[in-house]
Amino acid sequence: MSWENNVRKVIPYTAGEQPKGKVIKLNTNECPYAPSPMVATRIYDLAQQELNGSSSMLRKYPDMDAAKLVNAIVKVYNDRYFSGDKNTGKNTQAEAGLNFDNVFTGVGSDDVLSMAFMTFFNSDKPVLFPDITYSFYDVWADVHRIPYKVQPLTDDFSIDIKDYLDKENGGIVIPNPNAPTGVYEDPSMFEEIVRNNPDSVVIIDEAYIDFGGESCLPLIKKYDNVLVVQTFSKSRSLAGLRIGTAFGCEKLIRYLKDVKFAFNSYTLNYPSIELATVAVLDTGYFDDTVAKVIKTREWTKEKLSELGFEFRNSKANFIFAKHKKVSADEIFTKLREKDIYVRHWNKPRIDNYLRISIGTDEDMKELVKALKEIVS
Ligand code: PMP
Repeated sequence: MSWENNVRKVIPYTAGEQPKGKVIKLNTNECPYAPSPMVATRIYDLAQQELNGSSSMLRKYPDMDAAKLVNAIVKVYNDRYFSGDKNTGKNTQAEAGLNFDNVFTGVGSDDVLSMAFMTFFNSDKPVLFPDITYSFYDVWADVHRIPYKVQPLTDDFSIDIKDYLDKENGGIVIPNPNAPTGVYEDPSMFEEIVRNNPDSVVIIDEAYIDFGGESCLPLIKKYDNVLVVQTFSKSRSLAGLRIGTAFGCEKLIRYLKDVKFAFNSYTLNYPSIELATVAVLDTGYFDDTVAKVIKTREWTKEKLSELGFEFRNSKANFIFAKHKKVSADEIFTKLREKDIYVRHWNKPRIDNYLRISIGTDEDMKELVKALKEIVS
């Protein structure tokens, strides 16, 4: 007998490498562009206030509801997703739009998702998710002692909706677009899954939705069992700040907050709340950044096809591709020797694929040049 018998033993999540030095980093789906310049300006302002003693930002505990950020999110998302009166800026369909109590925030969507697993997946029945998907789901299931069952994607990496209809389950979680495949499914498919599973919470992980997909956000106003999770790490270039959000009916969000406040009330720190707020309000910069990434992605798709790569049409900020002749392992190693980092998993069904994040135009030109040398 030893204390080790009573340890919660888990196999942790393996994140993509964060190499030091100057490399072309296309392995963790970060945004290649800086966040909105309003963020740097706000950092400067906050530092000034701290220096001249007019701020109590670091001395006091932050607002545990992150109200400033949540209010900004409500405003921006109502304008974007729910019909509002563009002239007055007021939402003319108050009940149809988002309210403060529909929004949850956390330290990156990893934090939000982990809390959501703990809050909503408490049945003896298995939680369902695809066999090829975000590799954190089975880690959270294990750490929270949640039974789960993976549902295989089809041969072309699509979701077979039948796997999520009339199946006994204790919850469902699916990313859209899926990761690491980049495959996007229409919100109508998710609506059918949500409607068919009224006794479970369905989590739709929209980490990559801003790169060309249609969000399932409006579903939260029609169904009380759907939670839509998003992140500021990709399309808002703030992976380092750690901001994630979840949207759901008021009751779902209340349960999520209760669990969060039972752990650690003050997860978002004051500077993060301030910086994320100015970032979300800068919608013009957001639109430009997303458009740039999409344009580069489409260019990269053309070049990869010319070089003999095959892939499903990605709507994310990455492409999941395999080469017709050269193994992923070999390409991965040779790219690394050239200081270009992409992601490769030694897992069944996907071990011959590489996930390539979309960088700047220059990054992708370098990548294509290197790939040409490797595969020809
Ligand atoms: N969901 C998916 C599908 C992801 O790929 C990621 C990024 N690794 C996340 C959630 C978490 O992102 P973050 O914690 O940075 O918000």
